[in-house]
Amino acid sequence: MNDNSLVCIEQLSRYYGGLCAVDDVSFSIGRGEVVGLLGPNGAGKSTTLGMIAGVLAPAGGRVCIAGHDMCRAPRAAKAALGYLPEQPPLYPELTVNEYLAFCARLHGVAPRRCAAAVAAARTRCGLDDCGARLIGNLSKGYQQRVGIAQAIVHEPPAVILDEPTVGLDPLQIREIRRLIAELARQHSVILSTHILSEVEAICGRVLIIHRGRLVLDDEIAALRPGRGGARLRVLLRHPPPRADLLALPGVTAVDELEDGRLRLSHEGAVDPVDDLLAAALAGGWGLRELSPEPLDLEAVFMALTRDADEVA
Ligand code: ATP
Repeated sequence: MNDNSLVCIEQLSRYYGGLCAVDDVSFSIGRGEVVGLLGPNGAGKSTTLGMIAGVLAPAGGRVCIAGHDMCRAPRAAKAALGYLPEQPPLYPELTVNEYLAFCARLHGVAPRRCAAAVAAARTRCGLDDCGARLIGNLSKGYQQRVGIAQAIVHEPPAVILDEPTVGLDPLQIREIRRLIAELARQHSVILSTHILSEVEAICGRVLIIHRGRLVLDDEIAALRPGRGGARLRVLLRHPPPRADLLALPGVTAVDELEDGRLRLSHEGAVDPVDDLLAAALAGGWGLRELSPEPLDLEAVFMALTRDADEVA
């Protein structure tokens, strides 16, 4: 393990009965990093985050937080971590102040420091006007802020947020995103989400997990054609059967776009343009337009999860 890492997981796995939900996953996260954890439904994200947070036991592998082994020194490891699970652990019958004070105590904040810790977390999460309100009466967006406030009340160096914007309206999503970006200035953050643009906007690095396995671990800026593949946008007056396009070297998928154009996904290492031009000329396909589509996170995500589907 890399001693400089704040969060380090090594060959982590977990089963539910016969189902391998997390399969030999390893990665590490340094101080100040903001990492997005992406994957389709059921990919194993929450299970992975639960094991990192020390609330689920791994079948194999190791979790180390700030140099503390989660199995051998769980208190020290958990003290360096804040965790917002998919279902925030809120008590609707408590006020925001009562709840945050309770969480601060659970996280080991000294009684004399509790009030200041609660006030700081409340301010950072935009809850200053809600301290005396019952959590059960708050909107979902504000309840999510309370969930995030409990994760940072003890000022841990690392924060794990499991789908923090799910179920929120667009305005609330924007507010929570802004809050996460603010948190990222002081904490390392692992953020699980289904929203790819959220990762592009907030994170410096992305992990993609599919069927329990880590299929990508890279800097967002480094996602270039060749890793997940690339795409061409094509307009044909007389398009051939899909099979003819799929038969072109390197082409892995053909999608029809709403504007009548076709999107050809291809392996990054193989450029099918010359073959496409030759086939279009020979077959009288009436090529009107051919342009590369910039590779974005969505393309990488689709290519990697589709590839994984095909080999599974
Ligand atoms: P989502 O995005 O839908 O929340 P996820 O990527 O977080 O999914 P997990 O919740 O970790 O995925 O689930 C991984 C796999 O393990 C899924 O197939 C899920 O059905 C299964 N699973 C999760 N929790 C349990 C459980 N308590 N008992 C049995 N199977 C489970």
